[in-house]
Amino acid sequence: MKNCDSCNECCTVLSIPELNKPFNIACKNLCNSKCTVYEKRIDTCKFFNCLWRTSNWPDWLRPDKSGVLLTVTSEPNQYITAYIKHRFALTKKVRRLIKHVGNKYPVTIREGYK
Ligand code: SF4
Ligand code: SF4
Repeated sequence: MKNCDSCNECCTVLSIPELNKPFNIACKNLCNSKCTVYEKRIDTCKFFNCLWRTSNWPDWLRPDKSGVLLTVTSEPNQYITAYIKHRFALTKKVRRLIKHVGNKYPVTIREGYK
């Protein structure tokens, strides 16, 4: 499993109902790019991994660097959501990656997160 390092894209991009956190709004616990409740964060945060983190994808695809964050739901109805920060993030390489993962699971693309 890769290390997130300075990335915290999921703390902004994803909707987290337990925290009343809407999609594309920074979590209220995020301060200076760090989680202020890290040791006590909820299990949803603790056990979340984006696909980059669990893959052998290159470093440039890390969500904060690429502007692309891919998540997969758990079984039995698995599908992938590809969050794309802006249209420039949807490069040919990223399209190829999405097509590749789409061979295994259906993919929904959500564009325009900030
Ligand atoms: S988006 Fe992925 S790499 Fe970035 S903090 Fe979340 S799990 Fe880690
Ligand atoms: S509680 Fe912490 S880990 Fe969870 S979304 Fe908020 S800032 Fe991120």
